[in-house]
Amino acid sequence: MKSSKSSTSTARGFGAGSASVFDRLAEHDHEQVIVLQNRETGLRGFLAIHDTTLGPAFGGVRIRPYANDSEALEDALRLSRGMTYKASLAGLPCGGGKTVLIEHAGLEREAAFEGFGAFVENLGGRYFCARDVGIQDGDLAAIARSTKFVARDPAPGLGDVSESTAIGVWHSLRACLEAAEIRGKVRVAIQGVGSVGARLAHILKREGMELVVADVAEERAAAVARETGARVVGAEEILTADADVLAPCALGGVLNGKTIPRLRCRVVCGCANNMLAAPEDGEALAAREILYAPDYLANAGGLIRGVDYFVLGRLESAGSLARIYERTLEVIAAARAQGISTARAADRMAEARLKPRKTYRDLTWRGELHPPVLTPTG
Ligand code: NAD
Repeated sequence: MKSSKSSTSTARGFGAGSASVFDRLAEHDHEQVIVLQNRETGLRGFLAIHDTTLGPAFGGVRIRPYANDSEALEDALRLSRGMTYKASLAGLPCGGGKTVLIEHAGLEREAAFEGFGAFVENLGGRYFCARDVGIQDGDLAAIARSTKFVARDPAPGLGDVSESTAIGVWHSLRACLEAAEIRGKVRVAIQGVGSVGARLAHILKREGMELVVADVAEERAAAVARETGARVVGAEEILTADADVLAPCALGGVLNGKTIPRLRCRVVCGCANNMLAAPEDGEALAAREILYAPDYLANAGGLIRGVDYFVLGRLESAGSLARIYERTLEVIAAARAQGISTARAADRMAEARLKPRKTYRDLTWRGELHPPVLTPTG
């Protein structure tokens, strides 16, 4: 984050301790941030729209007990930008957005979510929301009482979104194995066997791979081990497990200055968002000749399925998910040709698609585009 002398921050205000809110938006050229507030329901949060160059902004709703509004805003800005890159690289007709809501004692949950839906509806299709961290059963239904621009799951024919994400990771992984010339009995270490990690373990087992898994919820690791024959190790050991592939499927920030020097794998490919603690960690992986599948490339399967279903009206996405394989090979080839990390190559490819096309944003502002088709027609 750039610092700014013009900051007008208060101790707990938007710009706490750093740049002004405008500088924070300008840093990555966010289009809009809506401050969500309703005194009666306790609704508080930020709806960030990063970029609608390619289409309406897609992004989940996250709710957490953020320490202050500055932390919440930062999360909204970072995550919405990530969604733009994910959508762009996946070739989807949509942009990036994100909502973060602040969980606090005075929140009247159902009414607050219903009120939030009205904000979304007022955007007329510029932002389309879905489930993210902290969302409970009933929250999406409450949102849907006020807006049609919400991806409710489960929905008939939508399928299991986490399964789509896991399938996408598998396609990215097979491209990495090919590029790294890893053959024979491949050993994969999976950190976190929750919704996506467990499904990935089953896919890899079917593909004949040897698995080692860890989860802070030990019973989950034990269940996956029973079902797939995986070996279980402690959560603190998994990053340095002796394996060909490390598949981070838990938290962000796991690849950093402390962990990267200790990795023993040749490939990193998983579903966790924001795996790199800092952009330069992508270079550090490349310097160690560890092939990194950029997170937003490998984990785009869920978004691809959502856009296929809710916007494009497609009832199945096997072909769209399989294209993650080719895209991964393209990113690796670009990185090798340009002598840069795969992380940087993916960023450049995502940005290239955004820059030349400003049509949707321009059209939206003139009100000439209709909202996306919201129900499958196929
Ligand atoms: P989840 O909560 O179902 O699973 C995460 C698992 O990781 C849990 O079982 C948790 O106990 C475990 N875990 C947490 N900290 C750990 C640690 N230090 N060591 C080992 N295990 C740990 O979440 P999920 O939906 O499977 O998502 C996993 C990651 O993938 C997240 O970063 C998420 O943002 C990202 N992601 C998910 C999807 C999706 O479709 N669900 C799509 C894109 C990205």
